[in-house]
Amino acid sequence: MARIFFRDANLIDGINPPKPDSTVVVENERITAVGANASAPQPAARDIVFELGGRSLMPGMNQCHFHAGYININSLMDIELKFPPTYLALAAAKNAELLLRSGFTGAVGAGSPHNVDVALKDAIRDGLIQGPRLVACGHDIVTTGGPIDVNPDFWKLGAEGLCHVCDGPDEFRKAIRQEIKQGADIIKLYVTGGHGFEMRADEVPMTFEEIQAAAQAAHERGRMVRGHVVSRPAILDCLRAKMDLLDHADAMDDECIDLMVKQGTWVTPSLYFSWKTLEFMRKRMSPQRIAQEERWLEQGYRAVEKANKAGVKLIIGDDFGTSWMPHGDYADELEFYVRFAGASPLDVIRWATYNGAGLFNLPDRTCTIQEGRIADLLVVNGDPSRDIGVLRDRSKLDAIMKGGQFIESHLTPVTASVKAA
Ligand SMILES: [Zn+2]
Repeated sequence: MARIFFRDANLIDGINPPKPDSTVVVENERITAVGANASAPQPAARDIVFELGGRSLMPGMNQCHFHAGYININSLMDIELKFPPTYLALAAAKNAELLLRSGFTGAVGAGSPHNVDVALKDAIRDGLIQGPRLVACGHDIVTTGGPIDVNPDFWKLGAEGLCHVCDGPDEFRKAIRQEIKQGADIIKLYVTGGHGFEMRADEVPMTFEEIQAAAQAAHERGRMVRGHVVSRPAILDCLRAKMDLLDHADAMDDECIDLMVKQGTWVTPSLYFSWKTLEFMRKRMSPQRIAQEERWLEQGYRAVEKANKAGVKLIIGDDFGTSWMPHGDYADELEFYVRFAGASPLDVIRWATYNGAGLFNLPDRTCTIQEGRIADLLVVNGDPSRDIGVLRDRSKLDAIMKGGQFIESHLTPVTASVKAA
């Protein structure tokens, strides 16, 4: 089989500073050589060669808080009740392809209404549709009256499409086992309110024993748990229970950050949603409320900055799919952290690539450009290590490769005669 050569690349490997004048060789699904142009292997006549002329070559990105089945949501009830599951599945397929074509070759579900992630993952694996590698999330887990248990009881509706309503460790264990039986790789717990919910962050809707039972039940069967968590005591409970991934963690302080680093906990700050929501609500809020939200956001930026410096495994991903933050603008989030949270472009590239890769249970896919790794790659017409905003422009993505296969390519290989010259 012909090898694919990317020559004269500005190599952004996911960990190190960029290396100009680099060559990367792909054979079947893997990267087989990485080095300076001068020392790289030479292509044979049948190989395919792309001269990148200094364009950037970087790993495919991971969106690690993905709701494929969220469409144009204005309220919590829209998630479950607005569309039939069949329609949600079709929309989820479209969103998955859009995410892939935006440069994200991996996605981790963060709660999937009607369990749409599992079917989506299988359909992508079977080649039925195009989409990123997906870590499928199941239904949400919440306690009675918790942040997403909002349908009034007199409606007699329940909320089975969206969540399990559980109370006590035994019910948590059972819900996790049911989700695993239905194909979930990761299961989400709504540990606190806050961060977009009516319920305040400092109420205690879930006990430590419940969180611990859920985490144990998932880990016993090799699956992961993630939690929507905002307040400091609840963050510490999640960390003590060895939760794998914390969503938001707005109130993380030094003690939380220390434990996150020690335990290798992933954290998705997902602050872009809060910022977008504030922009959307500005005209509808009182000046006092706006000032309060701005203070909250500022605290979040500083917490993220501190966590980044301390070496927390921060990852990218947010609540796209609301009416004010539609699917498609995924890379806006990266630029947002550079603008507000003291991160460098290379920091957020690392969050989007290397940091998220460990969630995929694919040891050869580290989302770094190294020999032997799976070839999930992007060719970018620009230098995202200087201007991260270039990733927001899909027309600058000259090629998207997943597992050594081009999903999209606007590159022209050099001809054999040019190669010979
Ligand atoms: Zn979410």
